[in-house]
Amino acid sequence: KPVIAIVGRPNVGKSTIFNRIVGERISIVEDISGVTRDRIYSQAEWLGKEFNLIDTGGIDLGDEPFLDQIKYQAEIAMEEADVIIFITNSRDSVTDADENVAKILYRTKKPVLLAVNKVDNPDMRAEIFDFYTLGLGEPYPISGSHGLGIGDLLDAAIGHFPEEEEEEYDDSVIKFSLIGRPNVGKSSIINAMLGEERVIVSSVAGTTRDAIDTQFTDNEGTEFVMIDTAGMRKRGKVYESTEKYSVMRALRAIERSDVVLVVLNAEEGIREQDKKVAGYAHEAGKGVIIVVNKWDTLDKDNNTVKDFERDIRSEFAYLSYAPIVFVSAVTKQRLNKLPEIIKRVSENQRLRIQSSVLNDVILDAVAMNPTPTDKGKRLRIFYATQVAIKPPTFVVFVNDPEMMHFSYSRFLENRIRDTFVFEGTPIRILTRQRK
Ligand code: GDP
Repeated sequence: KPVIAIVGRPNVGKSTIFNRIVGERISIVEDISGVTRDRIYSQAEWLGKEFNLIDTGGIDLGDEPFLDQIKYQAEIAMEEADVIIFITNSRDSVTDADENVAKILYRTKKPVLLAVNKVDNPDMRAEIFDFYTLGLGEPYPISGSHGLGIGDLLDAAIGHFPEEEEEEYDDSVIKFSLIGRPNVGKSSIINAMLGEERVIVSSVAGTTRDAIDTQFTDNEGTEFVMIDTAGMRKRGKVYESTEKYSVMRALRAIERSDVVLVVLNAEEGIREQDKKVAGYAHEAGKGVIIVVNKWDTLDKDNNTVKDFERDIRSEFAYLSYAPIVFVSAVTKQRLNKLPEIIKRVSENQRLRIQSSVLNDVILDAVAMNPTPTDKGKRLRIFYATQVAIKPPTFVVFVNDPEMMHFSYSRFLENRIRDTFVFEGTPIRILTRQRK
């Protein structure tokens, strides 16, 4: 999907505009463990065109001086985005910081749209004229808080999207990526996996953008593609300067993957960033496997595995379906299990359940735990059917979708999971009114 990046100095209203563009998507996604809180990256859509939106202002560049921060943010946008939206603020007119950002953006060949925020009513439109001096073309007057002008801006933005890229692999090829903080051992695991005697590495291709994909076949002839998070093999100064930036790289890889291996470092335990990235994989409907690396470094007793599993289950509550594997890239412990687990999860993602069988499960579930009622009215479930795979997605037709509470939907999900093997994959349950 194309990427739109928002840049601009602090307090011009970037996050308000981000939320406007993302719209209700944020609220429809369940916010468990703060996955959707203070997000800087989200999927969004305009006129049927889907894209990813990054608020570079949210990228935490640590203690860098102010001007360096906005400079890096602009550089990240230039590197990552297909279209850049540069936001300024009519109340402050053109500031030195705006000019600085503009100067950096001159260097890019990518389309830059200049938006002037806080133009809250048509009488204020005259105030945008100063902004022509930034030399970035016609300014777009917008109001993040009133939602004005955003449509025109997005029309222009999607007009600049590149031609759609074809996915370059066959559907039978299993695409996976390893994500995790720097130094958890992603590269070591990959090298060890690819170094396995029975693995045939058939090609290393520079494909989409700067990602480096590695294709290989296991001893059963299953084809895999390892999608590199790019940052792993190509590290530049900006890349290293921020962990959040590597999050964005990871998100790119997640998007192209069927299965995501969330790599944790056994020595360090679970960090906030691990949860964030794993949360994105979950939201994107990808298969997820939790890989605890550096297992060799721990002094273990009978409870080590159990304790670690318990921590993972409580910290990653929304990933209750994800298998956990304890490995060591150094001793190669259990590394040979990874391909078969990836394969299993990928198969589960593509599972299709017959409607008749599914409806039996739903009927049993309802008999066991009656549907909620409200003011004497009961939620009625008419039937359910699977409408998609990757991730398996079910539509439940009911008399009144409002009455399908999260807890009941979760109950149905659990019943479905108890009956069918959906290990490693999120499943989605949508509720629709029967016409
Ligand atoms: P990446 O940044 O996630 O790709 O991490 P690397 O693969 O570069 O590994 C970071 C460091 O951890 C290197 O010094 C590795 O040798 C070390 N390392 C990786 N895996 C293991 C492991 O399983 N056990 C131990 N003890 N060290 C590991």
